[in-house]
Amino acid sequence: MKLRDRKAFITGASRGIGRAIALAFAREGAVLALGARSMDSLEKLAAEIEADGGKAVPIQIDVGSGNSIADAQAAVGEKLGDIHIVVNNAGIARSVKVLDMDDEHWQSHLDINLTGTFRVTRAFLPGLVAEGWGRVITIASTAGKVGFQSTAAYCASKHGVIGLTRALALEMASNNITVNAICPGFVNTDMTSEAARNIAQKTGGSEADALAWLKKLSPQNRFVEPEEIAAVAVMLASEEARGITGQAINIDGGAVVY
Ligand code: NAP
Repeated sequence: MKLRDRKAFITGASRGIGRAIALAFAREGAVLALGARSMDSLEKLAAEIEADGGKAVPIQIDVGSGNSIADAQAAVGEKLGDIHIVVNNAGIARSVKVLDMDDEHWQSHLDINLTGTFRVTRAFLPGLVAEGWGRVITIASTAGKVGFQSTAAYCASKHGVIGLTRALALEMASNNITVNAICPGFVNTDMTSEAARNIAQKTGGSEADALAWLKKLSPQNRFVEPEEIAAVAVMLASEEARGITGQAINIDGGAVVY
């Protein structure tokens, strides 16, 4: 078990990539705090993990709100004490061209994807420092490295997350804490289904055609599975990965070779 005796907080654990990371971390022996807004889904996941012999507590959090993050930090502290691993996975992705973009669209992406990642990390970092060992893992995107049409706010937020990752990695290098980002291409989750629905709506084509078009963006002509992201998160969280920090690792079938 690679994560035995480690305690982790995972945001956006209610579904998709966050849920897959939670299940993979639990299998590797980590004790988990599962964060998201939907308590029902978190409670079901925690029960599933406990039924399998693991330990997980559901924690309600809206990463777009500083107060909610402070409440969640207090709740995690009360239930688990200091943690070792923060996984910033919660995120949103909507699409609109800049000429049609209102302030709300722009601000919500920055608030949830970028400021949320900063605030959650800042909240838990003193605990990692106190433990003398830590991992910060952020689920960014290949949209944090290159531009994609109609997603300027999302791309800006994810570019920001990679900048934060690189700078914080240097600040934490002497504290036995690594800071890395994972950059998925299109993953087989609700977020990708939603993207296909939007494309179909805007182009008047079918959702199946939109899904096929999105798949072709990968040279492997497929979506990445959430479990593939989770496997790399486990690797980054493990002791063996102590030399990897400040990196932004693409998992996208070779779509972005950078
Ligand atoms: P998803 O299926 O839409 O799930 C999003 C997760 O984030 C949910 O658990 C959701 O939980 C949570 N969340 C959203 N807003 C939140 C908020 N304000 N506060 C707390 N939790 C919030 O998306 P996914 O595909 O798993 O994506 C996870 C991460 O991977 C995101 O950061 C996304 O940008 C990134 N990513 C995804 C893809 C992809 O193709 N799917 C590609 C590259 C990067 P609640 O609704 O319960 O709060």
